[in-house]
Amino acid sequence: MNAIKKFAYNYLIPLVGKLNVGKNKFVNVVYYHDIVKGKGESFMRTNKELFEKQMRYIAENGYKTLRFDELDDKENVKFEKKKVVIAFDDGWLSNYTEIFEFMQSLGIKYNIYLTIGEIDKNPDYLTWDLVRRMHDSCLVGFGVHTFTHPHVADMSDIDPKLEFEQADAIFEKELGYQPLDFCYPFGSCSEKSHEYLTTQSRYKRIYTSSMMYSYEQNGRIIFGRNGIDNDETFGVFKAKLNGWFNIWKSII
Ligand SMILES: [Zn+2]
Repeated sequence: MNAIKKFAYNYLIPLVGKLNVGKNKFVNVVYYHDIVKGKGESFMRTNKELFEKQMRYIAENGYKTLRFDELDDKENVKFEKKKVVIAFDDGWLSNYTEIFEFMQSLGIKYNIYLTIGEIDKNPDYLTWDLVRRMHDSCLVGFGVHTFTHPHVADMSDIDPKLEFEQADAIFEKELGYQPLDFCYPFGSCSEKSHEYLTTQSRYKRIYTSSMMYSYEQNGRIIFGRNGIDNDETFGVFKAKLNGWFNIWKSII
């Protein structure tokens, strides 16, 4: 990024976003992936110390955090200052080993979208036992992230039975309830996939990876989300936390 772009991203977007904060109808969502002890990298890996600093900021500044199931409540799902949904994509093992106790000590709720085919199979991912342990703590909510983590934008490329129905059935068998929160892998989505999921699935909330204002379609909510980037400034993190970056998609 050149100096002008950097300035625009770090200062102008947060300012314009702040002035337009009223365009947010639904609760703000931020997301992470893996949390690592070593050097972080972009959206995919966040350094643990940086993550802890961000979470302490959330706790010390009185933000309310919510689990997915709490969004069934009409009041909870509305946009409100200092209210945020913290989410993690994929189901990385570190979402338990590196952060669970810490989040518990701060009383911060969080959520994980599971790539169902990796759970109990891939050693870098969570196991169902750990998922259940987190679920039983009432601190962590869960959603689905397909079975094989494909690009969903082109619906003709994927097997919806496997990616949605089978993934949901396994989730329900292991956790005892239907998943109502779905996140697109790679943020890969299209008008077609939104239409399919808002009419053919049981998901109430569908999450993209676009920094945009969330909206309703066929009675479901399509969420914009703010990826927290390991390499961005603390000011940008705060702006994303407050829903000020949701303006991004309206101006690019
Ligand atoms: Zn993913």
